[in-house]
Amino acid sequence: LNKNIPRVRRRTTLILLIIISFSLSSIFSKDRDKYIGITKEIVRSALTKQNGYEWLRELCEIGPRLSGSQNSFKAISWAEEKMEELGFDVWLQPVMVPHWVRGEKEEAVISESEFFEGRNLEILALGRSVGTGKDGITAPVIKINDFDELEAKKEELKGKIVFFNRSIDPAIVNTFQGYTDSVVYRLRGAIEAAKYGSVGILITSLTTKYDNVPHTGAMRDYVDSLPKIPAAALGYLDADFLNDALKKDPTLKVKMKLNCKTLPDTLSYNVIADLKGTEKPDEIIIVSGHLDSWDAGVGAHDDGGGCIQSLEVLDLFKRLSIKPKRTIRCIFYINEENGSKGGIEYAAYVDTTKEKHIAAIETDQGVFTPEGFNVTADSSTLIKMQSWLPILEYAGINWIKKGFSGSDISKIKNIPALIGFVPDDQRYFDLHHSNNDVFEEVNPREMELGTAAIAALAYLLSEEP
Ligand SMILES: [Zn+2]
Repeated sequence: LNKNIPRVRRRTTLILLIIISFSLSSIFSKDRDKYIGITKEIVRSALTKQNGYEWLRELCEIGPRLSGSQNSFKAISWAEEKMEELGFDVWLQPVMVPHWVRGEKEEAVISESEFFEGRNLEILALGRSVGTGKDGITAPVIKINDFDELEAKKEELKGKIVFFNRSIDPAIVNTFQGYTDSVVYRLRGAIEAAKYGSVGILITSLTTKYDNVPHTGAMRDYVDSLPKIPAAALGYLDADFLNDALKKDPTLKVKMKLNCKTLPDTLSYNVIADLKGTEKPDEIIIVSGHLDSWDAGVGAHDDGGGCIQSLEVLDLFKRLSIKPKRTIRCIFYINEENGSKGGIEYAAYVDTTKEKHIAAIETDQGVFTPEGFNVTADSSTLIKMQSWLPILEYAGINWIKKGFSGSDISKIKNIPALIGFVPDDQRYFDLHHSNNDVFEEVNPREMELGTAAIAALAYLLSEEP
């Protein structure tokens, strides 16, 4: 304590500190040993049996699961059967979803240049992009670093392809922060460039791996008052190549052909399984991920792994005969990637149901080694959850802090706690939304430890007042 604080205030502060630390340790002191014992059992079962890892293999064998696709319906059926086979009550919640299709693989080539003519470029259309028509578009390219530069050069953009050369800044330790800083060019690049007469955009893939595998992802909806121009991501190495090529030959032209289009909305489903609570069955703790994926790779980390972790939480309780007081509800949301319609639909249900939603957990940041939980809640709830760290440490959890939970559950209003599972993020953007996101990239121990961490937290949420 600071010597400059008057003696009385020092004493009051000291008493306050004692009260706070006493109340923290007494919140669950009587059950603390029991909770630690159960957490250890959960960890042991997850790491030794690795059931979820095998289910993820089955899910990934179906292939990519973009909303509205045949594969997405196969995955929904697979999930429904798996949940029933494990003995849970299953509910398919209907929801209309956008149906965007890529069509045949896109092509891009430097079509006119003294030095580079005929050089192919590896690209992947951005989700929701319009196609180019069968003849493609051919245009000069202008490299732009950010929206300020776009505005400054607006007179030079007409009839050109704008090349936003902004990947994830590798100097930023938190890769989600780096991603958030640069994703705006993927989201809004085509809309902003169309304002000045551009005919298409290319972006450098948002990646932390310097290979040539392009990474897709959603764009914002086009604005009706502006031309809808096609948009694609370049593989990192080809973006680098194009950047250098433009220095040597600023007049080069690129031809790009995208075959994607948007079909009418399709009826799809969130897949939901309940493990009924023994004492308060109408009080709900959600554990969740999203079942849809992009059509590149198979969405092993994003977010097949998160779905399977959520389901295995229920199964861990069941196989260990742990009977939670509140209902633990597993949700596989549909359409997180290109519309979030599943999350929106479930949030609307929360507004009307008589059930009382206590907390929602989302796992959608990859299934790597667990680190912590981000929480959106009032400060007393947050402090209470932080008091559980000495238990959750047994499942590899190092911290609980205020932060963004996840895109699907954040649609829910009027719930005391929204919680995002946060694993080590250093490798996630190597594979996010690309052909790199395959089952072989998932480490069973890392994934299962994460499952155990989420299960231990779900258990505490179900037992504690
Ligand atoms: Zn995801």
